[in-house]
Amino acid sequence: MIAGIISRISGPVVLTERMKGSKMYDVVKVGTEDLNGEIIRLDGDQAVVQVYEDTSGLKVGEKVINTETPLSVELGPGLLSSIYDGIQRPLPLLVERSGSFISRGISVPGINKEKKWDFVAIAKIGDKVVEGDILGTVKEYHIEHKIMVPPHVSGTIREIRNGAFTVEEPICILEDNTPIIMMQKWPVRRGRPYRIKQDPQLLLVTGQRIFDTMFPVAKGGTAMIPGGFGTGKTVAEQTLAKWSDTQIVVYIGCGERGNEMTDVLSEFPELVDPRTKMPLMQRTILIANTSNMPVAAREASIYTGITMAEYYRDMGFDVALMADSTSRWGEALREVSGRLEEMPGEEGYPAYLATRLAAFYERAGRVVCLGSDGRFGSITIVGAVSPPGGDFSEPITQNTLRIAGTFWALDTSLAYRRHFPSVNWIKSYSLYLDSIEDWFVQNGFNDWKEMRDVTMYLLQKEVELQEIVQLVGPDALPESEKAILEVTRMIREDFLQQSAYHEIDSFCPLDKQYWMLKVILNFYERTGEAMNKGVALNKILKLPLKAEIGRMKELREVDAVRSLIGEIDKKIAAVEVER
Ligand code: ADP
Ligand code: MG
Repeated sequence: MIAGIISRISGPVVLTERMKGSKMYDVVKVGTEDLNGEIIRLDGDQAVVQVYEDTSGLKVGEKVINTETPLSVELGPGLLSSIYDGIQRPLPLLVERSGSFISRGISVPGINKEKKWDFVAIAKIGDKVVEGDILGTVKEYHIEHKIMVPPHVSGTIREIRNGAFTVEEPICILEDNTPIIMMQKWPVRRGRPYRIKQDPQLLLVTGQRIFDTMFPVAKGGTAMIPGGFGTGKTVAEQTLAKWSDTQIVVYIGCGERGNEMTDVLSEFPELVDPRTKMPLMQRTILIANTSNMPVAAREASIYTGITMAEYYRDMGFDVALMADSTSRWGEALREVSGRLEEMPGEEGYPAYLATRLAAFYERAGRVVCLGSDGRFGSITIVGAVSPPGGDFSEPITQNTLRIAGTFWALDTSLAYRRHFPSVNWIKSYSLYLDSIEDWFVQNGFNDWKEMRDVTMYLLQKEVELQEIVQLVGPDALPESEKAILEVTRMIREDFLQQSAYHEIDSFCPLDKQYWMLKVILNFYERTGEAMNKGVALNKILKLPLKAEIGRMKELREVDAVRSLIGEIDKKIAAVEVER
């Protein structure tokens, strides 16, 4: 046993002596209260430990015990609907035992060890199994939780049984006597293995027009949402949690304002999964860092979350991981680094900020899972970033920019004008446009890319035209350019704006998105043609079409949207004849 003593304490960082034999990232129990900590630097027989709990009261000379295991999470049935702190301690249990979140030295199991789960075997006696093979399933709410052969284990099944078991009772025994239980442990700082990572080529359907049609993210891709205070990051993350076509959600909340996480803790369990009408929590794992929790636990929380996401990915599920906000995580990293007296980089963040961020986002992806059935699973990461003062030039935004595939830039002035989602269409981008074009074509949206290009062209043109209008007034513009401004107003108000709270419009199916845009672009084309034939723009604008286009969002039936195309053709043809 490695047992040392404390020689120095600096906030969450503790220097310990006589720790020879320790390894990086070993978990240690610090002081007489057994506070949880993790070794983050080794130097001779000295070890520097970051402590996941409040260190006030800790004294120099107190003992430190190395558990000689890396920081790990418990994986198995019972994760879904759980609310954890950054090191997988169930918050409700913590509160029950200590009366507050600031509990110290408490060890509570990550998953319930007493509960019995009904295991239904799929594999049979005599089957040869390898790592990742599915032995059977357990019902976790409506999710078929797959019980898998753990990584690095293989053999021939000697015994396998159906029935009710706890997560620690063997459900299967291999011929070499290896017992397999439903629970796995995995060190959080190491990605779980898979067979092959695929290029992200499928659209993550979110039902949000500015995302799916304009700046899509692929399943297994990464997206970032930077934005100042009140621009809609949390609403976007929750909307994605609710609506994106994934089976599992891991939501990592790092409170921005004093009691914001307390709000999330009370609100999230109320959210209803719009597809199943069941509580969203039944397919969600919530990791919460309130602002009164120690910073080191916040640093660990993204690893705890991604490891759980990987476990469900390994079963063959599509998982969405939301981190709100990664800026708070970066600040935790900065604080610990400062205590270590490391050489500070930009704005005091450590030099390794970029590699840490990259290593986290790198764990996203669509993969062929371990196991002989060749199933696919994916993790899509959506990280919110809250740059101070909404200034995107700061290190967390800039470093994430280099990694994330989709960039949804939230805009304070749009939010101020109540244009939601406040995604700035000029600054945002998606690097997945080319790789998922085939997906759109295969799903019947042959000219999606073309329509998107025209839309982007018009929106960019609008910026130019608005500058001219500011200088010389609207009358200076030729009719054709006035028409563009009419159409871009439609694109902005009738297409890009989408309320997260509207009964119908909160989710817009992809075919409806497609036809809504088609209607607007058809209006643009038909207007141009009529003007070429000498019809005055005013005459077209007086038609009742503008209002009808404005009501598309609220239509339930896609056919009703689509029929507007014929209507536009007919009404514009009529004014052409009048002439
Ligand atoms: P942030 O997390 O960036 O500080 P929030 O997500 O809390 O901001 O959003 C602030 C407010 O903006 C919300 O309370 C809501 O009123 C409004 N809002 C944001 N996004 C939308 C949306 N898609 N639809 C309607 N309102 C929105
Ligand atoms: Mg927020």
